Amino acid sequence: MTNTDQPLQIPLEFDCPDCDGEGHVYEEVAGGCFSVAFGNWLPDERKVCCERCDGRGRVDLDDLTEEELEERGIEMDEAS
Ligand SMILES: [Zn+2]
Repeated sequence: MTNTDQPLQIPLEFDCPDCDGEGHVYEEVAGGCFSVAFGNWLPDERKVCCERCDGRGRVDLDDLTEEELEERGIEMDEAS
């Protein structure tokens, strides 16, 4: 007897928590431009590839921490 029609209950991939599925994050870098109005240097924003998901915007189930899984209502049963 075979049972290959198991319902997929937990998705295997999720939007990356670090970049919200964007695949990139904005990093503040010093030395943007000097604002005469504010009288100081404004930080510049740099678009960088999200390290966590490698720019994919998606992370595998295994890449999420227990906390992040809980936030998504997923309980991992480590006992096997
Ligand atoms: Zn990411």
